[in-house]
Amino acid sequence: MGIKVAKFGGTSLADASAFRRVAAIINSDPDRRYIVASAPGKRFSDDIKVTDMLYECYNHAIAGENTDASFDKVKARFADIINDLGVDFDIDSEIELVKEDSKNNLTRDYFASRGEFLNSKILAKYLGFSFVDAKDVIFFDEYGHLDEDKTYHIFAEKVGAYEAAVVPGFYGTAADGSIKTFSRGGSDVSGAIGARALMADIYENFTDVSGMMSADPRIVSSPKIIDTISYTELRELTYMGATVLHDEAVFPVRRAGIPINIKNTMRPEDRGTMIVSNAPPSDRPVTGVAGRCGFSTINVEKDLMNTELGFGRRVLHAIEKNGVSFEHCPTGIDTMSVFVASEDIKNCKEKIIDDINNKVNPDVITIEDGIALIAVVGRGMANRTNIAARLFTAIGYNNIHIKMIDQGSCGTNIIIGVAESDYKKTVEVIYNEFIG
Ligand code: ADP
Ligand code: ASP
Ligand code: MG
Repeated sequence: MGIKVAKFGGTSLADASAFRRVAAIINSDPDRRYIVASAPGKRFSDDIKVTDMLYECYNHAIAGENTDASFDKVKARFADIINDLGVDFDIDSEIELVKEDSKNNLTRDYFASRGEFLNSKILAKYLGFSFVDAKDVIFFDEYGHLDEDKTYHIFAEKVGAYEAAVVPGFYGTAADGSIKTFSRGGSDVSGAIGARALMADIYENFTDVSGMMSADPRIVSSPKIIDTISYTELRELTYMGATVLHDEAVFPVRRAGIPINIKNTMRPEDRGTMIVSNAPPSDRPVTGVAGRCGFSTINVEKDLMNTELGFGRRVLHAIEKNGVSFEHCPTGIDTMSVFVASEDIKNCKEKIIDDINNKVNPDVITIEDGIALIAVVGRGMANRTNIAARLFTAIGYNNIHIKMIDQGSCGTNIIIGVAESDYKKTVEVIYNEFIG
């Protein structure tokens, strides 16, 4: 028998009918034996994810306020699912246990993790699968990074001991023994870890769309679904804003060459997107376009900057000293710009300016906010000419001003910076030029 690890996202497990669909998908293939589950997500656009409800519980708890009302909302979400499915699960006692445990685990991560914990227990019961707590099989080291060796070894031993099991996504155990979550959307990472640990034939990631789209569907209407994409292209697109998969989910499976298949829980018959190491040559230069708002640029100008040994290093060190990492750093002869996340510098702008002034004594230093970065990604770009010409002609023709251009050394991506107000239009223009 083969091994498939299947991860189901929040919308795929948002209510009882979603659970039924998930069970039908799992039962239709005996290889789908190891399941990673998210907390219940949104049932409709204004709905609240259980994870967000739990953050609210934490906010009340940490303020010393009564948490009963906010926990009742969480309980109601689970009670709806349990009652409708007819699963024998005592949600009242489980919530009481969480409240009790939380007195000794008063952390944001502990609270947030309970959505995945409870949902996975319910799913395991409903499927007749074993339940294995992620705290016993996923481990972080003292720096907060995944402890890969320990995790893969123990995950394989404990989860692999069962014919079929459900493991909660999103969290594991930190080096000090407390519960630690990944960043938002992190169940994708847990699924990839499970697939790697069990050396699965495939990692199936079930969500609410029929695969990875070549642009954000909230910007371009009905963008084309990508049939096959390489791990590298996927990483570049997810990092830059294609939020369908957590951008760190690629690492555990890439090294082991385990393919990822993004599939739609509502339409499991659709092929979805295959993510592999050796994607076949593409007849299209651009595989996809993705971007994000919320960047700032720190611009430094100084005459004869290029003759000053260590100038760039000292500017970057001033930024690093403030705990800020940089995204891009294009330079001119006497100018240097450093692109950073606006969120990271919002409380230390003045300090960064002071530090740069002290370190390199520039002629001018300014910070500009409101920048969007957009990645144009395609394995078919590397060996084709004329791509940059087409890209910049299309953008220029639409009167969009480009603030930054950066091309990765592998030639499979071009990143441009534009004003946030031009973000959506730029994505549309690029999509229409290369894909639409
Ligand atoms: P899940 O709860 O299953 O993890 P997410 O909400 O995290 O699902 O991710 C799926 C959503 O990602 C889609 O509904 C879509 O709105 C969004 N999305 C953003 N960019 C893309 C893209 N390039 N391709 C597909 N979906 C995308
Ligand atoms: N439930 C978590 C979140 O909302 C993790 C996940 O769904 O992947 O971010
Ligand atoms: Mg997700």
